[in-house]
Amino acid sequence: MTYFSLNHNAPEVTFEEAVVRGLAPDKGLYFPKTIQQLPDSFFQNIENLSHVDIAFEAIKQFVGDEIHEEDLKSILKDVLSFDFPLVKIDKNIASLELYHGPTMAFKDVGARFMARCLGYFNSKNKNTNKVTVLVATSGDTGGAVASGFLGVDGVDVVILYPSGKVSDIQEKQLTTLGQNITALEVDGVFDDCQDMVKTAFLDEDLKTARTLTSANSINIARWLPQMFYYLFAYKTLKQKDKKLVFSVPSGNYGNICAGMMAQKLGLPTHHFVTGTNANNIVPEYLKTGNYFTKASVATISNAMDVGAPSNFIRIEALHNNNFAQLQSNLSGYSYTDSETIEAIKFLKTEHNYTADPHGAIGYLALRKYLENKTGLQGVFLETAHPIKFLPVMPKSIADSMETPQQIKSILHKEKKSIKISSYNQLKHFLLNNP
Ligand SMILES: *Cc1c(COP(=O)(O)O)cnc(C)c1O
Repeated sequence: MTYFSLNHNAPEVTFEEAVVRGLAPDKGLYFPKTIQQLPDSFFQNIENLSHVDIAFEAIKQFVGDEIHEEDLKSILKDVLSFDFPLVKIDKNIASLELYHGPTMAFKDVGARFMARCLGYFNSKNKNTNKVTVLVATSGDTGGAVASGFLGVDGVDVVILYPSGKVSDIQEKQLTTLGQNITALEVDGVFDDCQDMVKTAFLDEDLKTARTLTSANSINIARWLPQMFYYLFAYKTLKQKDKKLVFSVPSGNYGNICAGMMAQKLGLPTHHFVTGTNANNIVPEYLKTGNYFTKASVATISNAMDVGAPSNFIRIEALHNNNFAQLQSNLSGYSYTDSETIEAIKFLKTEHNYTADPHGAIGYLALRKYLENKTGLQGVFLETAHPIKFLPVMPKSIADSMETPQQIKSILHKEKKSIKISSYNQLKHFLLNNP
């Protein structure tokens, strides 16, 4: 498969090159040159296929012949070794729980797939340089990347996180693994971490010293596997004879954009809804036609505190850069922290369901869209386990939550991080720890 840069000023590349580079040299996001619909028979028979079969059919055209079919299948089998349950909330609303993986956030699937692809390419080209994955995190990305890449040959991972700004559980997920994973604790906020990472990618001294790549959702190997969720939901819901609406709590818009890619492959989808917090760039755009990025605002759904959504350009490409077409496929609503807390309480008291702040926003946006409409089945994506956001959950709900095994097993482990407070310290680390 060939990928081109959405900035249209860089050479076309293979899947492997796109995965290793992350971002194109003109700083554009990579996008597949062709997208082939899957045959009708795939959707007609989907209930007879396993998750691995579904994922394989969906991803194979994007990988092409660069990973042998049998190897791709075994990568997928390994990546998808946990469940993706659909939990009924209401007569026309269900929650698609994407948090049953090792770090209990939906990012596990993309991070694990990307790690295994890089590992595969490294073992194929024995004498190539080691790759260093450099990633800034506000919480969830770092944990998923650390766990996904742990022990992968030929790949080092360096994670920057803002000191004191991630939850205790998230910090443990970042700092206790060791081996090829290093956590740099930055004296600053998430934007400082992000700026340092961006500076590093442009630094010529570093470019000669090591091969750097990113593991954010700009990387196609992290972005594309997120298509699977929507296909898995369809497998369960298709008999219901209602049209599907997906509501996705969004920050960088990678997850929802992958859903739209599944739609492009032929997945019958009536509409998409995005729920956001105060960082309401996309809902405002859909309302006014004006796209204004801004500095991010801190909220309790902090994985969505993004002021310049990086994948939005891919969403536009999927809608032929046509605003009317996008508007007819996507609605967006934004919610305050207090509305989010109210929704968490409502879901608990009315439906005995514990949602995290991100999922709760997905629920609110879905309910809003479904108001006064009939014949639709709504699915909101529950993107992280509520235990990861314990400090901001209503106290009575927090107190009644049980700690899942994945979390219990890291709580006693010792934190190891290196404190830094400037770009020069990051650079020094990268140059001196090959
Ligand atoms: C990353 C994340 C999101 C946002 O996903 P995008 O693909 O960036 O839109 C939502 N919820 C949780 C819990 C996350 O970790």
